[in-house]
Amino acid sequence: MAVPFIDIKRFEPGFLDQWNEKVKTMSANAQFIGGAEVSELESGLSQTTSAKYTVACANGTDALQIALRAVGVKRGDKVILPDSTFWATFESVVNVGADPYTVDTNSGDLQMDFDTFKEALDTVKPKAAMIVHLYGWGTSRIEEYRKLCKERNVPLIEDGAQCFGVLYNNESIYKDALISTTSFYPAKVLGAAGDGGAIFTNSEELSVIARRLANHGRTSHYEHGDIGWNSRLDSLQAAFLNLSLKHLGKRIESRKQAAEFYYKTLPGLGIEPIHPPKGYTENGYCNVTLVSPEERPKIEAVLKEKGIGFGNIYPGAMSDQPGAKPHLIQRFGKDQNARRISASVLNFPLFAYMTDAEKDEVISAIKEYKKR
Ligand SMILES: *Cc1c(COP(=O)(O)O)cnc(C)c1O
Repeated sequence: MAVPFIDIKRFEPGFLDQWNEKVKTMSANAQFIGGAEVSELESGLSQTTSAKYTVACANGTDALQIALRAVGVKRGDKVILPDSTFWATFESVVNVGADPYTVDTNSGDLQMDFDTFKEALDTVKPKAAMIVHLYGWGTSRIEEYRKLCKERNVPLIEDGAQCFGVLYNNESIYKDALISTTSFYPAKVLGAAGDGGAIFTNSEELSVIARRLANHGRTSHYEHGDIGWNSRLDSLQAAFLNLSLKHLGKRIESRKQAAEFYYKTLPGLGIEPIHPPKGYTENGYCNVTLVSPEERPKIEAVLKEKGIGFGNIYPGAMSDQPGAKPHLIQRFGKDQNARRISASVLNFPLFAYMTDAEKDEVISAIKEYKKR
């Protein structure tokens, strides 16, 4: 039996009927931009994240650019960000005209390394800093990051594209962020029927700026207080997300069960899965293991042969991307952990409503590799 790396078609019974019904009525009413679905989504998201203000937008990359602009990042400003992330984080800095400085990864929790970050902060004195909560959890030192940035008066933007539903000390990870973002790309934990994103903040002022930027800098319909752009979330996406939010708890529960299954079974096969640090309740975004760079292609070959999907999240550091070269000013961290981890990381299939048979199939493929 083939097992995909991720399958986003496993909807709850009746879900697609409800969605089709929504599309029908909203289309008949030409309800395409803004309106009740978007407001309902924004308040639902504020409830789930415990952030006071939510601004929905077109995608997760725009959400980052809006957040950077909202905290005042302008052309020529310096921004610190992790070297291990999805490319969009790096891109967003360059797209707002700022200069990126990357910070190496901690080999324990695989998140940005706090001590290296501190060194970068002292050296660069940036206009803003970014942190990314990768893999469905976050850094063990999240409180220190927030405290340090506050002390230094450096706004910290938290890229939460992978941590929707993650809890830290039993509360939403987004709750105490100055400003954070997420993505509703269909493969994320809360996915839309296309692209979508959001900005979360507890600052009314930042929320007003973010909303203005996402809608042509509008202060009223024909008055523009800012150079923004069109990054509105459309109403159909909002409707799909409103339907999905009702099932979020069950989806995350199912993902976490799959994550647990790997924690129990992989060590017996000599593969060490990475656990979230203390204090975190993960959302089951993905499975993460580290294997030796020599072993990885051999395991992957057997998985391929057996039709088992896998991932390498991420196969390269940001500072090693060809597109980074003209922009990157400096990378911090002597250990090159980001580079080493990207040569070792292997992700096994994990998605909501993965069956027991599928989980067992992944394990038999790994056993088959061990036998050879
Ligand atoms: C998915 C993702 C993004 C980008 O989101 P889009 O909606 O695809 O633009 C940004 N950062 C991280 C860490 C992501 O995983």
